[in-house]
Amino acid sequence: MAASAQPFEPPEPIAQPILQLRGVDKIFDDFAAVDRINLDIYEREFFTIVGPSGSGKTTMVRMLVGMDKPTNGDILLRGERINDVPANKRPTCMVFQSLALFPHRTVGQNIEFPLKMRGVSASERKKRALELLDQLRLPQSYYGKMVTQCSGGERQRVALARALAFDPEILFFDEPLSALDYRLRKLLEKELKDIHRETGKTFVYITHSLEEAMVMSDRIGVMNKGRFVQIGTPREIYGSPHSRFVSEFMGEVNVVDVELGREGAVIDGAGHQYRAPVVPADFERGSLVVRPEDIRFLQAGEPADNRLEGMVQNEYLLGSRVQYQVRVGEKQVFLVEKLRDQAPEGGRDGVVTIGWDARDSMIFALNRLQQ
Ligand code: ATP
Repeated sequence: MAASAQPFEPPEPIAQPILQLRGVDKIFDDFAAVDRINLDIYEREFFTIVGPSGSGKTTMVRMLVGMDKPTNGDILLRGERINDVPANKRPTCMVFQSLALFPHRTVGQNIEFPLKMRGVSASERKKRALELLDQLRLPQSYYGKMVTQCSGGERQRVALARALAFDPEILFFDEPLSALDYRLRKLLEKELKDIHRETGKTFVYITHSLEEAMVMSDRIGVMNKGRFVQIGTPREIYGSPHSRFVSEFMGEVNVVDVELGREGAVIDGAGHQYRAPVVPADFERGSLVVRPEDIRFLQAGEPADNRLEGMVQNEYLLGSRVQYQVRVGEKQVFLVEKLRDQAPEGGRDGVVTIGWDARDSMIFALNRLQQ
């Protein structure tokens, strides 16, 4: 679906669009890496672009930053067309995964670089650098430390401090956390969200990781094949995906290929009937999608719109949660995710009953699968 068709009420204090794309595309030979995008990004918004490899995220951000020009369409900053304004003349700044810090300089020199370029006096520069160290939760003693003596997470903070020293209106981030280990990434995700709030700047962030996008963003745009297939708040994208593609991108899900059955139910190849949420009038074939956490282990007599018998064939501990692979019949395996204290009680021969209610599943007609 076209991005512009997505209704969005910008929450206060997000008000005016700061960046607008009107029919923007980027064509390489005869291949559209970005395909007729319409999009408004609002002032003070944290907007994240997610999508699989090759979906056009980097190509799009290169145009937004001014490193590339669109083949067609217009990019507007506060209503002014900026297609031909080069990167160094735009009030925007990019933070890369590769950091691009000066390795043989101190933390302070790196942060002060943009200020020095602008002719700010040495004492003012130092004052601002120390403020930024505070803001980025780095000790002030790091001012004189060499960048090469900093850890990966510290360097990432220095890079962000330097970007903020430019005092840009919009900060762009291209996978800045992807090289860091899991714990540090989780910590910096939360810090970045705090810094976004504290600075009141507009952040545009690219990532492969929907989990990362969910934690930080006001809105997420999911890209596939050069287009936005859905734009919405994290809650909307997670709770009401518009297509199987988006629902699968949101994490591990159970997908059952189904056809229209009797009385509004759908039926899979093994003959199981499923109660589904409202089945579209023209539905013939498609997919029923159920999240692992929405499937329950049922006790005898416990009601559920859909119930299946199966055997637990594997279980994986995910910290506070456990994921079970439940084999149903010859071919089907359902993933079920529960808290550790909600383990299934296997009946005779380890048979368990799993189930879920129709409202906890999603149905997508085949024509939506291509999105
Ligand atoms: P990743 O997550 O892997 O970085 P991405 O979503 O950022 O991927 P892009 O780098 O924007 O994707 O690439 C989108 C498509 O455009 C890819 O098929 C890529 O091969 C193609 N592409 C990008 N730059 C060029 C170029 N300069 N010339 C030709 N094709 C290009």
